[in-house]
Amino acid sequence: MIKEKKSLKVNKSPSRRKFFKAAAATGVAAVAASSLAAPAVAAERVEAAMVATWGRDFPGLGTGAQRFAKRLSDMSDGRIQVTYYAANERVKAFDSFDEVASGNSQMYHGADYYWTKKHPAFGYFTASPFGFTYSEMNAWIHFAGGQELWDELTDDFGTQSFICGNTGVQMGGWFNKKIRSKNDLKGLKMRMPGFGGQVLGKLGGSPVSLPGGQIYENLVSGAIDATEWVGPWNDEAMKFYEAAKYYYYPGMHEPGSMLACGVNKSWFTSLTKTDQMIIKTACAWADELTMAEYNAKNGAALSRLINDHGVKLEQFNDKVYDAFAEGARELYDEVQQHSDLAARCHAAFVKGRKEIGNWTNLSDSPYISQRNRALGI
Ligand code: CA
Repeated sequence: MIKEKKSLKVNKSPSRRKFFKAAAATGVAAVAASSLAAPAVAAERVEAAMVATWGRDFPGLGTGAQRFAKRLSDMSDGRIQVTYYAANERVKAFDSFDEVASGNSQMYHGADYYWTKKHPAFGYFTASPFGFTYSEMNAWIHFAGGQELWDELTDDFGTQSFICGNTGVQMGGWFNKKIRSKNDLKGLKMRMPGFGGQVLGKLGGSPVSLPGGQIYENLVSGAIDATEWVGPWNDEAMKFYEAAKYYYYPGMHEPGSMLACGVNKSWFTSLTKTDQMIIKTACAWADELTMAEYNAKNGAALSRLINDHGVKLEQFNDKVYDAFAEGARELYDEVQQHSDLAARCHAAFVKGRKEIGNWTNLSDSPYISQRNRALGI
């Protein structure tokens, strides 16, 4: 493990400052200095360490974050240099937030629901049970007050988060038995982080939050009975089919999990407006590309899981979904009681689910249903 802890800061280009000082002292024509002044400021080198909650080269999550870090450098002709550290290369996955909040590193790539123990409202900013899909989440964050609430939440910790990827609707998980009713969830020790895990807890299950790199060994050893992770493309790479055969859909717990780039706020605000814009624009690009890659690769991976690995695909029935809803209501009642901010996040979430969701109900949902009925391909 790399233990390097040096604090990386904006390089103020001392050599350039020296040049201007020398130029003034020696009476070099002012016009020459002024013609250089603007590009000299714009050319400030920025160095940042980015930690991540994902293993190196992990499909989608890890490769998407690595691609994002590289893009920041490519967009600035190497002027913004981001050194990327996958989980355990600088800090452990779940220490990423503290690492950036403390200023030891400048950026993280992760999912903000990993921080619900710090504040439950973080749950709204990755995925909420019965919540937003990818396009709805982006609508909520960008145009319906989501980003403002997210900023308010992170501000207390000295960080700021931006959308930096999405997995789309996640699968319900891997089980060793059929899940036919609420009773089948009782006593089930399942890896499921965030609000989704808390819903399972309300139904008598035992949710466990483990970083991706530790799930397989726990499932194989029997330390956990079941797990959710992401979807076919990612779950195939994890080889969960070696330990569990029933693969359930759709997951109620993560209907469009938003990935985040978190920045140390005092570092971020010390950057030029141009560099802040470069980072935010690269985040939006990474978001779109990540979602596109998941949509492109999940279908083929699902076929391989079923045909090559003998996975049994199962759909949660209405009874199970009704039980999930019962747990979700109980959870949301509690979250709202936590604080004024949690209550306002919940109110904004419900408003978004109604307004944005009602449009989905009239557009995507019936169209896809009719498309498949009338001309299934
Ligand atoms: Ca998941």
